[in-house]
Amino acid sequence: MVLQAIGQPLVMETRPDSVPGPGQIRVRVEACAVCRTDLHVVDGDLPDPRLPLVPGHEIVGIVDALGAGVASPALGVRVGIPWLAHACGHCPYCASGRENLCDEPAFTGYTRDGGFATHAVAEADFAFPLEGFEDPVAAAPLMCAGVIGWRSLVLAGEAARLGLYGFGAAAHILAQVCRWQGREVYAFTRPGDEAAQAMARSLGATWVGGSDEMPPVALDAAILFAPVGALVPLALRAVRKGGRVVCGGIHMSDIPRFPYRLLWEERQLVSVANLTRRDAVDFLAIAPRVGIRPVTTVYPLAAANEALGDLRSGGLVGAAVLVP
Ligand SMILES: [Zn+2]
Ligand SMILES: [Zn+2]
Repeated sequence: MVLQAIGQPLVMETRPDSVPGPGQIRVRVEACAVCRTDLHVVDGDLPDPRLPLVPGHEIVGIVDALGAGVASPALGVRVGIPWLAHACGHCPYCASGRENLCDEPAFTGYTRDGGFATHAVAEADFAFPLEGFEDPVAAAPLMCAGVIGWRSLVLAGEAARLGLYGFGAAAHILAQVCRWQGREVYAFTRPGDEAAQAMARSLGATWVGGSDEMPPVALDAAILFAPVGALVPLALRAVRKGGRVVCGGIHMSDIPRFPYRLLWEERQLVSVANLTRRDAVDFLAIAPRVGIRPVTTVYPLAAANEALGDLRSGGLVGAAVLVP
C-alpha cells in the first residue's frame, strides 16, 4: 500500500519482491500495526518523506531472504522491525548511546519503505528476534506503541503515580507495564470517551477521567500520547513540585501560552524522540514477563486506508493491525 503523494489515500501496487542488499534481511510480513505517526507521514506533518512510500513501522514477519554478510537473524526466524531503520554509528549522539538522536538516521515507513506490504527489507542490525511471541498480531503494536511507550516511561522516572494522557495504543500497553511494576495509573481520555475509559478501568487504572479534569491527587509524572499541545499546561498543572511531563509523540499541535508558575517549582517538560536499539531490547525482554495483551483490531492489508481513517477519527479502541 503506497503513499504516492502527501494527503492522498494509499494505493495498492504490485511490485517484484525486493532483494535485500548487503547487511539487510527481507521478511514476509505477518502483521504491521498502524501508528499515529503513520497519519503524520500521510498528512505531511513530518518533512520530506520518501515518495512514493510504503508506510508502516511496527512490522512483525518471518525472515525469508538474507543479504550478503548477514549471519543473524537466520532464515525462518520471526523478527520485529521498528521505526529506527538505521543510525550512523559515528556521530556524537551515536557515540554517546543516544542513537535515537542520530544526525544521519533512517526511519522505517518514512525515509525507507515500511511494512504496509507483503514483504519488507530492513537492516539486520535493526531487526529484533521475537522469540516467545507466538501471535504476530499481538506483537506488532509492541514495536512502536510499546517501545516508544517504554522509552517515555524510562524518561518519566520513578513515578509511583503516573498520568497517561491519551489512552490509545501506547497508553493501553504502558498501563499494563505500570500495573506490573506496581505504579498507580491515572488515565486521561478525550472527555466523554466511554470506550477508552472502560478500557483504562479494565486495565487497572487507579483513576479515569477526561483530559480536562484534575486527578484527585498530585501526580509524580505524566506522559502525553495525544498529539494535543493544549494538554501540556493541563499536565503540568496535574504534576507535583519537581514532577515531570513527557511528550511521547513525534508531532503535536501548538502548545498554548501558559503562566510560568505551572512550570516553576522545578517541574520539567521533556520530549521523547525515536528509540534506541537498547530500548527495543529492554522492552522486548520484559514484555513477555508482563504478559502484555494488546487490544487489537485487525484489517486486511488492502484496507489500510480504512484503518488510518479509523485511527484519525478516534473511533478505534487499542491498536489497528494490518495483516497481508
Ligand atoms: Zn510509531
Ligand atoms: Zn549517528
